[in-house]
Amino acid sequence: MPLRSSSSLFYNEAQTMFRKIPSSPVLILLSLLGLLCLRGEATAFSAAVSPVRISPGDAFLVRVKGATDGLPVSVELKGRSFPVASCGKACSLAIGSVDLGMRPGRYKVLVSQGKRTRKVPLVIRKTTFPSLYLTLPEEKVSPGEEDMKRIEREAEKVRSAMEPVSERMWEGDFVRPVAGAVSTSFGTRRIINNHRESIHRGIDLRGAGGEHIQAANRGRVVLAEELFFGGNTLILDHGQGMYTIYMHLSAFSVTPGDITEKGAVIGSVGSTGRSSGPHLHFGARVLGVSTNPVSLLKLKP
Ligand SMILES: [Zn+2]
Repeated sequence: MPLRSSSSLFYNEAQTMFRKIPSSPVLILLSLLGLLCLRGEATAFSAAVSPVRISPGDAFLVRVKGATDGLPVSVELKGRSFPVASCGKACSLAIGSVDLGMRPGRYKVLVSQGKRTRKVPLVIRKTTFPSLYLTLPEEKVSPGEEDMKRIEREAEKVRSAMEPVSERMWEGDFVRPVAGAVSTSFGTRRIINNHRESIHRGIDLRGAGGEHIQAANRGRVVLAEELFFGGNTLILDHGQGMYTIYMHLSAFSVTPGDITEKGAVIGSVGSTGRSSGPHLHFGARVLGVSTNPVSLLKLKP
């Protein structure tokens, strides 16, 4: 009985309500739209990309404000989508990057929630990367059959170590692992003995042997071992497909599986592997793409 009376009460109220509303089709449409919004539809939001002009190989930051909490936001560039992290109430952010081979031009970063989409411009400027001509003893640049097998095995190991897209561990900005200046920049073409070419997909930072190396951000150690080219090599997984790489270390302070906090000591500068003197080779990857660490250090998430 009480149920019946309450439903009939509702019915009566609804009738009263409908009688009170002027029977304008526009008003009815507006109230229907209002109801749709209450049922989890995306609200209007704004999206900004910074920096707005980058070079091939650079990282960029996308900040979305005013999007409905609890509804997924997606960030995409040329078919590649980047994981989105929360930055507080109605705030989302994503770190993206473009490949070194990306053609310069004007692009649009697509930011979507539900059916709402924003197209934010991103300019990839024409960039000339430096070339470095080196002369080295031929036996040093042409590894033997055994070494070639080792190099291939290690390349595959490094590649697969940086494949998983795990849960976000990084927080805020990425910090410089050593204070020293850049001696060889990202994207430098190294031409050895006029016939062998390699592209430097990281930066070399000056440092004294034994100097402490700090973790660029919070992360999990996924590799810490001696490799042919990299010498003692350390890889940190920061989650969401973000990785940082440290090479030529004299010693490790962490072992695989360890969680390191941002700024914690992970090892020491050295000259192990193919290195001509103590320095830190520092690399970064965003979803499988080698990214200029300098551009990553400049972002303010
Ligand atoms: Zn290097």
